[in-house]
Amino acid sequence: MAIDVGAGAGELTGGPERSIVPDLEALRRDGWRPVPFRQFVLKIHSRCNLACDYCYMYEMADQGWRSRPLRMTPAVIDRAAARIAEHTRAHGLDRVQLVLHGGEPLLAGPDLVRRAVTSVRTACGPGVAVDARVQTNGVLLDETFLRLFTELDVRVGVSLDGDAAGHDLHRRHADGRGSHGEVGEGLRRLTAPAYRDLFAGLLCTIDLRNDPVATYEALVSFEPPVVDFLLPHGTWDTPPPGRRPDDLATPYGDWLVQVFDRWWHNPVRETRVRLFSEIIRLLFGRPSRTEAVGLSPVALVVVETDGSIEQVDTLKAAYDGAAATGLHIDRDDFGTVLTLPSVVTRQIGERALSDTCRACPIHKVCGGGLYAHRYRAGSGFANPSVYCRDLFRLISHIREAVSRDLRRHREAANKDTTASGRGTDETS
Ligand code: SF4
Repeated sequence: MAIDVGAGAGELTGGPERSIVPDLEALRRDGWRPVPFRQFVLKIHSRCNLACDYCYMYEMADQGWRSRPLRMTPAVIDRAAARIAEHTRAHGLDRVQLVLHGGEPLLAGPDLVRRAVTSVRTACGPGVAVDARVQTNGVLLDETFLRLFTELDVRVGVSLDGDAAGHDLHRRHADGRGSHGEVGEGLRRLTAPAYRDLFAGLLCTIDLRNDPVATYEALVSFEPPVVDFLLPHGTWDTPPPGRRPDDLATPYGDWLVQVFDRWWHNPVRETRVRLFSEIIRLLFGRPSRTEAVGLSPVALVVVETDGSIEQVDTLKAAYDGAAATGLHIDRDDFGTVLTLPSVVTRQIGERALSDTCRACPIHKVCGGGLYAHRYRAGSGFANPSVYCRDLFRLISHIREAVSRDLRRHREAANKDTTASGRGTDETS
């Protein structure tokens, strides 16, 4: 499984990439069919009680939130629920995921949260399992919400960037106060025995100034079932902090490698780190279940507070309007969304990669990274990720570590077989 880590990712300064505009008719003639949406994100509240300076909602190119209503109304919720149910029937789906998101979804209040979950479950009916989740900053996570989530079987993901110093670098209130203390309180309530089963995991945005191992250990101290590490959003035009696009250095790859080594070599598996687990799955030829790596079709769609249908939020980091579809739940079904070129592009895997990525030896694992991170004015998304070298470094490291451990296991198993075979001979 050894690969040449010196090739592929280094070739980033070549000529212009071909543009990627999917020809839907040609794709259909080739037998391609859209993959139905299975994850429905409802933005039930468009504002936040924190003012994190890296937030793609408020601090990045797309400022669409300014013109949107604060809260989703019950009428919009019911219409969205009916559209979700219609989509499950059209595609014979028996399971979907509903994610309540924001802004900060808990600002919508318990009644609206209840309305969203019950409306979608009622519309879908008993034949469709609706796995409901909420993604919160944790500040408002009190007993009222936790009792409600228990009653409705809603799982809770919390954003935490590590220890107090690391978390409060970015995740602050508008007046500059850090939020780590409040989030820690919310997490202690969530992880108490009565509610622990609701805990879906932690989401941590990487800051290179934070020590990677200390950050990981601060996260696992809450015993999350899953940790998601997010690369800060950025593009070739607006590179992420510390990532100069033309630089051979791999600061984010190096940071993640340190976390991987701490996670992988620990005698006890303390948690699942989604990015690492998914890379390992991909190395064994299995499909990814995350947008961050691999070539699996994207199956997520977003409904904003006003009923507008959008693509994944992370696209907002690219340019103003990047996530927009121009469609609305009052007029359009989710099947129509599946035919948009911008959505088709994110469902056709390798065919939507840049020429550079297609020639890269690890493209089936990397998948060109997160779609938004490929953006460059002029060539759009037909580029490698702005994190290309970091992804190459991380994936190569994981591949080497997994290969080495597999070899060791095989050698140990062979020795055991030989030893037990000799024993049989000696006693016969
Ligand atoms: S973004 Fe990923 S697939 Fe594309 S060239 Fe870089 S490492 Fe390879």
